[in-house]
Amino acid sequence: MKNKNVLITGANKSIGFETARELGLLGYKVWLGSRDHDRGQLAVNRLTKDGIDAQLIIIDVTNMLSINEAARRIQHEDGKLDVLINNAGILGSHDVAPGEQPIDDIMAVYDTNVFGLIRVTQAFIPLLKCAQNARIIMVSSGLGSLKWVSDLNHPYSRVQAMGYTSSKSAVNAITVAFAKGLMAEGISVNAVDPGYTATDFNGHTGYRTVAEAARGIVWLAAEANADITAGFYFDQNRAPW
Ligand code: NAP
Repeated sequence: MKNKNVLITGANKSIGFETARELGLLGYKVWLGSRDHDRGQLAVNRLTKDGIDAQLIIIDVTNMLSINEAARRIQHEDGKLDVLINNAGILGSHDVAPGEQPIDDIMAVYDTNVFGLIRVTQAFIPLLKCAQNARIIMVSSGLGSLKWVSDLNHPYSRVQAMGYTSSKSAVNAITVAFAKGLMAEGISVNAVDPGYTATDFNGHTGYRTVAEAARGIVWLAAEANADITAGFYFDQNRAPW
């Protein structure tokens, strides 16, 4: 992995941090995205202690200025980006009926999970084009699978969080759009469901560890064939759209 670099948004903790740690241990230079300086620096210090080449990069995915500044810095320091992992995400209201979820709450979820991911991806396409066979990974969710959420026998069909679940369905659709748009450039774009994972996101109620959650992300980032694109994965298996 010599000289390969990766940018991960929302990497100061949880699934993003574990992904950063594992890719760092594989030899990637890690640009650790965090919207908060101190939380990000603490996370970078933990990686550096393990001998990982990690640098803090401030990115709030809802703030275009911070995204552009981050792109300028990586352009200046590395001149390319091999792997972009759009991991930052929020849940918004949950256990709320679709008719009751405040529109402002839904808009805030979309601003991070959908528009944030588009903003970051668009800003980094020029740098991804400068790498060989660059990869984009969208951290989606099984709750974005229309097959699973519409199957009344599937536990995901009982989750009431319309803003979040639909935002991740949108992420899946956006994955396909970018994948088709970037195919000619040799850039792969895939979505991945980390599974229900114990993190701050859900008050640590998930049944998977962050290491299990990161497995499929790391596989798409570093191990999967470069021609795998426009897919949605759970671990290394295709998940249904
Ligand atoms: P988490 O523990 O809540 O961590 C989320 C990360 O995203 C944090 O670093 C957070 O930063 C960051 N973030 C939130 N808003 C941001 C913004 N506007 N700009 C930049 N960073 C922002 O969540 P997680 O469980 O690790 O989830 C990571 C991803 O996996 C999300 O996309 C989530 O939807 C997806 N996912 C999670 C599960 C699960 O069960 N945990 C299941 C399926 C999918 P701060 O620390 O500053 O808040």
